[in-house]
Amino acid sequence: MWLRALAACALFAGVAAGASAAPSVQYDVTVRIDPATRALDATATIAVTGTVADQGPLRIVLASGFTGERLQADGRMLPAPSAGRDGYQVWSLPAGHDAHALDVRWHGTLAPVDRTITHRQTLDRPVATAGLDGTFLPAGSFWYPVIVGPDGPLLASYRVTLDVPAGERGIVPGRLVAESEADGRYHATFAFEHPAEGIDLIAGPYRVEARTVHTAGGSTIALRTYFHPAIAGLAPAYLDAVKGYLDLYERWIGPYPFTEFSVVSSPTPTGFGMPTLTYLGESVLKLPFIRATSLGHEVLHNWWGNGVYPDARGGNWSEGLTTFMADYAYKAREGPDAAREMRLGWLRDLAAVPPGQDRPLAEFAARRLATSQIVGYDKAAMLFVMLRDEIGTAAFDEGVRRFWSEHRFRVASWRDLQAAFAAAAGRDLGPFFTQWLERTGVPSVRVVGAERRATGDRYAIRVTIEQGVPPYALRVPVRMRTVAGDETLVLDLGRSRETFDATLGARPIALALDPEFRVLRRLAADEAPPILRQLMVATRSAVAVIGAGADWSAAARRLALRTLDTRPRFLAAGDAPPADTALLAIGRHGDIDAWLAAAKLPARPAGLADTADAQVWAASRPGGAPLVVVSARDGAALDTVARLMPHYGQQSFLVFEGERVAKRGVWPSQAVAWRFE
Ligand SMILES: [Zn+2]
Repeated sequence: MWLRALAACALFAGVAAGASAAPSVQYDVTVRIDPATRALDATATIAVTGTVADQGPLRIVLASGFTGERLQADGRMLPAPSAGRDGYQVWSLPAGHDAHALDVRWHGTLAPVDRTITHRQTLDRPVATAGLDGTFLPAGSFWYPVIVGPDGPLLASYRVTLDVPAGERGIVPGRLVAESEADGRYHATFAFEHPAEGIDLIAGPYRVEARTVHTAGGSTIALRTYFHPAIAGLAPAYLDAVKGYLDLYERWIGPYPFTEFSVVSSPTPTGFGMPTLTYLGESVLKLPFIRATSLGHEVLHNWWGNGVYPDARGGNWSEGLTTFMADYAYKAREGPDAAREMRLGWLRDLAAVPPGQDRPLAEFAARRLATSQIVGYDKAAMLFVMLRDEIGTAAFDEGVRRFWSEHRFRVASWRDLQAAFAAAAGRDLGPFFTQWLERTGVPSVRVVGAERRATGDRYAIRVTIEQGVPPYALRVPVRMRTVAGDETLVLDLGRSRETFDATLGARPIALALDPEFRVLRRLAADEAPPILRQLMVATRSAVAVIGAGADWSAAARRLALRTLDTRPRFLAAGDAPPADTALLAIGRHGDIDAWLAAAKLPARPAGLADTADAQVWAASRPGGAPLVVVSARDGAALDTVARLMPHYGQQSFLVFEGERVAKRGVWPSQAVAWRFE
C-alpha cells in the first residue's frame, strides 16, 4: 500500500491545481525556525508584475495558524483579513493596479510532527510541522503568503534564506546560492528562477554528502543527500543511483533542467517528489529496492511534472508518462515477462474498479482515492504502451523529446502531448487520444466465433470478434497456435462485430486474444484471477469462523475487523452466507477442508498443503462473489495474518511461517482462448 503512496508527489499536495502562467510573481523570503520550540518567524517581499489587471482580483492567502504582523501592499497597510474557507486568512489586493510590491512579516508556532499520520492524510491536508527529528513546510500548507488569482495560486519564482540552529541543515527546491554557519546558526539561501508551483521547505538534523557529476548530456550537476545520522552510510549508494537515472533520462528526453538534485530523509514514512529533490521517509530509504524503483520515478518527475506542468483543467498526464518511463521501463529492462506482468497488474486493477466508479482519463487531476489512482496511473501508463505500439519506438522517442523542448517550464495538456507525437509520427492521432481520454471505462473485446478450413496445403481461418457499442478503434494481436508453432496476427477493429479472414501455412489448433496484454480492455473473468484485495474492498461481506474456543474466536474476529474495509456480518454456526456477498472463512487446518466441502465451496488449491503456520487464498464463490479462506494452526498464527495480510492485497495466496510471509503469488491468468474442434 505504502509503495503506491510513494509515487505521489508534492506537486499535487495542494497549490498546483489551476496554477496559471501569468502574471509573474517573485518572492524574497527570509525564515527563521527553531525546531525545539517550533517557532517560525519570517519576512517576505513579493513583487507581482505583468498583466495583473487582466487577471481579475488577486488575493493573499496564509494559513490561519500564523499571525501577520505587518502586511503592506504598495506602501499601505492592508485592512484586516477575512477568514477564508477551511482555516485560511485572506487579504484582497487593491484592484486596478499594473503591479504590486508587498512587504510582509509573520510568525507562528508550527504543529508537532505526527508520526501516526498516513501519507494519504499528508496529501489531503498538508500541515506545516516542526520538531527535532525534522521540519517540513509543504507549499500546500500555506505557510507563507501565497498570491492567488481567479484560477488558483500563481506560478512564482523565489529566493529563500533559511535560518536554523547550527546542528541542523535545511533545503528548499532550487539552486543553493550561499550557506554559512556563524553564532550558533546555519544560514542557507536557495533560488528558483523558473516559475514554480509553490515553495516547500525542509530542515532536520542532517548529515550532508555532496558530489559534483558530469552527466551523459554534458551537464554539471550538484548531487546531495540530506540524511538522518542513522542512515548516513547509505549516501554513496544513493548518489550513484541518482547519477544513473540522470544519464538515462538525459539520453532519452533531453538535458536535466536544473543544476542540482538532492535526496532528503523524512522522519515520517511519506514520499514526495519536488523540483530538484525527493523527500522520502527514513524507513523507506533503508529498503534496498527503493533505489531501483521509486527513486528513478521521482528523478523523472523533474522532467514530467516539475519541468513541464500538467494542465489541471485538461487532465494530469504526468503520472501516467512517469509510470511508463520509470516503473514500467525498469520492468522492461528486467525482461519481457516482468513487463507483461506489470501490464496484467494494471488491467487487473482496472477490472476491480466497481461499475460506475471509473472516470475519463481527461478528468484525472491528482491521486486521492484508489480508483482515481488506477485511472490516473495505470490507465494512462497503458495508453503510452499502446501509443508506442501504434507509432513505433523511434517516433515515440522523438515525440517525447519534441514535447520536452517545446513545453519546458510551461503548462501543457494531453492535447499538447498528442500534437508532439503526431508531428513525430507524421500522422493524425486525434481519434486515438480522443477515445482513450474522453470515454469512461475500457472496451470489452471477445472472440465469438472461429472457423478453420483446409484449402490444399494451406488453411483458411475466419474469426469473428465483438466489442461494445459504440466501438473503439483497436489494434488487437491474436496469437494463432498451429501445429508448426505460434503466429501472431494483428487485427484492426473498428466495428461492434466484425469478421476477419486469414490464411495460415500450418493447421491451427487454438487462438488467443491479446495474450500479452497490450490492449487497454476489460479482462474476462478467467483472465483476472481472484486476489485478496477484492475481499478487503467489498462493500458487503460476511465472516464464517469455523471451530470453537474463546481465544480462537477472538483472534478470528480481530483478523476480520482488521482486514475488511467495511464492517462484516459474522455468521452463526450453520448459517448460510447471503448470496452476492464477499465471504471470509477462517478455520483451523484440520477443520477447513471438510467445511469447504460441506458448503460446496472450491477446495484448498493444490500446492497449499496444510503444514505451514497459516495459509490464505483467494477464490470465487459460485456466482462470482469473492471468497478468501484462512487456514491456520492457532490463534497466534491468525494474529500474524491480521498484521501482514493488509499489505498483500494484490496477491492471490500467502503462506505464513512464524512471523513472516514465506510464499506468495497470483493465480495464473488464462488468455482468452478459442479452441478449434
Ligand atoms: Zn509520481
